[in-house]
Amino acid sequence: MTSLKKKLKRQKIKETKKDLTQKVGLFNKISDYCLTCGKNFDKTNKDMVVTWNVVVAQDTVRLYCPQCWNNAHQLIQEIKNGYSNTKGDV
Ligand SMILES: [Zn+2]
Repeated sequence: MTSLKKKLKRQKIKETKKDLTQKVGLFNKISDYCLTCGKNFDKTNKDMVVTWNVVVAQDTVRLYCPQCWNNAHQLIQEIKNGYSNTKGDV
């Protein structure tokens, strides 16, 4: 029982490492501009790396600047709310 737990734990760590290398591999695929507005993205700029959003879908990597990301989220929220909020404001 205990050894099995250890084994599982080790396996989990292995998978995490694998996941990380995969992500780093994808990171190299990232384009250097925002897909929506075309703003330049500097991979070496830590602030940008932290604030910009990367969406990984299968083998493609999509990059969005914080502004476009917020816009997209607002749009999604509006659609989710079914525009009922704007109606209520009137
Ligand atoms: Zn943008």
